[in-house]
Amino acid sequence: MLKVLFIASECTPFAKTGGLGDVVESLPIALRNRKIDARVIIPKYENIPAEFKKEMVHKKTFTVPVAWRQEYGGLEILKHEDSTYYFLDNEKYFKRAGLYGYYDDGERFTYFCRGVLESLPYMDFQPDILHCNDWHTGMIPLFLKVFYWNNPFYQNIKTVLTIHNLKFQGIFPMEILGDLLGLDDSYRGDEGVEFFGNVNFLKAGIVHADRITTVSESYAEEIKTDYYGEKLNGILKKYEGKMQGILNGIDYKKYNPETDPYIYENFRCSSVKKEQNKVKLQEDMRLPVRPEVPVLAMVSRLTRQKGLDLLIHIIDELLNEDIQLIILGTGEWKYEQALREAAERHPQKMKAYFMFNEPLAHKIYAGADLYLMPSLFEPCGLSQLIALRYGTLPIVRETGGLKDTIISYNEQMGVGNGFSFANFNAHDFLFTIKRALDFYHNRKPIWNKLFKNAFKANFSWTSSAQKYIKLYEDLYGG
Ligand code: ADP
Repeated sequence: MLKVLFIASECTPFAKTGGLGDVVESLPIALRNRKIDARVIIPKYENIPAEFKKEMVHKKTFTVPVAWRQEYGGLEILKHEDSTYYFLDNEKYFKRAGLYGYYDDGERFTYFCRGVLESLPYMDFQPDILHCNDWHTGMIPLFLKVFYWNNPFYQNIKTVLTIHNLKFQGIFPMEILGDLLGLDDSYRGDEGVEFFGNVNFLKAGIVHADRITTVSESYAEEIKTDYYGEKLNGILKKYEGKMQGILNGIDYKKYNPETDPYIYENFRCSSVKKEQNKVKLQEDMRLPVRPEVPVLAMVSRLTRQKGLDLLIHIIDELLNEDIQLIILGTGEWKYEQALREAAERHPQKMKAYFMFNEPLAHKIYAGADLYLMPSLFEPCGLSQLIALRYGTLPIVRETGGLKDTIISYNEQMGVGNGFSFANFNAHDFLFTIKRALDFYHNRKPIWNKLFKNAFKANFSWTSSAQKYIKLYEDLYGG
C-alpha cells in the first residue's frame, strides 16, 4: 500500500484559517478510502481544541537542528475517526494564539520543515511520498536533498508540493540562509532559494519538489502569466513539465444538507426546507423575517483577493434593491470598517460579523439564496462548492477554480449552476447580481432549475483523488 504523509500548517478540525485546512483533512480521507495510507502532520498549536489535545499520545522526544540551534522536538499522535494525525510539538514556536503572523514565522516554519523530517523515523510509518502544502512546507524537498541524501531511511522518498495560493510565498531576508536554514551561499541564485535578494520558501519547493500541483487547471495555466504569477511565473514556466492542476473537492459527508448538525433544518433538494433555513437565519441575524426576499451572502477572508473592493464599491447601489446581505469574515481592517459602516447605513438589510465561526458559516450557506465570490484571483475556491452543495447559487468572477466549477446560466442552452462575469469591474459584478435577482423574482421555473442543477453538481473528491493517486503511482513507479 502506498504511504503518503501530508505536511501542512492547517488541518480541520484541529486548525483552520481557510480552504487549506479543509483540503488537508478531506483529501487524505478520500485517499484512504481508495487504499492509500495517507496521514497528516501539522504543528501542535496552542489553539487546537482541548478535546483533541487530551487524546494525543506522546510518541517520541528528539532534537531538531535549526542551523546551529538544537531545538526540542516532540512527536504526538492522535487517532481520530479512523485517521492518523501527527503533531509536532515545540512550545517555543507553537504555544501562541493563532497560526501565523508572527515576526519569527520564518524561524517557526524552518523549524517545522526540519522537525517533520527528523520525526519521520519515529512514526512507525515510512512514507513513500511527502506531500507538502504551500510555503510553510516549501523547504522540505530541499532539506531532504541537502541533509538526508545519505541516510538510507530517506533515500527513496519522493516529494510533491501543492500550491494552494501563490500569493503567500514565505519571503524572508537573505540573512536566514545560513543562520536558520543552515545552507551555504551555493544555495543562492536561480536554482536555489533566492528571490529578488531574499529567501523564498515556496520557490525552493517549486525548484526541488519532484512534482508540483496546484488546485485547479485554470490556475495552473494562469500562474505562468505575468498577471497571476506573483513574480514566480518565470520559474513556474521553467518547471511546467512537472506541474499539473488538480481541482480540489469538498468532503460531501461534512458538507451535507441532509445531515449537517449545524444547520436549522436538514434538507435535500427541497426549496421549502431551504426557505425554513432562511427564515431562521433572518431571525438569528435580527433581519426582517421575509422569506420572499433574496438573501445574498459571503463567508470569507476579507482581503483584496476575495474581491471586497468590488463589493464595497457598489454596496449602496446593491442595498437599494429589495435584498438582504449577510457577511461573515475576518481580515483586513479597512474592509471590516467599510462593511461595518455599510451595515450601519442599512440596518434592515445588512449584517456583517467579523469572526471565524464554522457553525454560523454552515447556517449561512444553508439559508442564503445567492453566494457572492467576485475574486480577483482564486486558486480553486471551496466556498462556491459548499454553496452549491446547499443549493445556494454562486455569483463569481471567471478566474481560476471559479471558472472551472461555475457555469454561468446560459439562456440559449438552458445550462448553468450559477452566474459569472469576466472583468474585475464593480458594475459588471452588480449587473450580474441584478441578472440573478431577475431570475429569482420573475422567472421562477428557471431559478428552480438552477437550484436543482446546484444540487446535481458533484464536487466531491471522487475524480480528483483518483488523479492524485495516478500522480503518486507515476512518481513512485517511475
Ligand atoms: P481561502 O482558502 O482562499 O480562504 P476557500 O473558498 O478555498 O478560500 O476556503 C475558505 C474556507 O474557509 C471555506 O470553508 C469557508 O467557509 C471558510 N471560512 C472563511 N471565512 C470564515 C469565517 N469567518 N468563519 C467560518 N468559516 C470561514
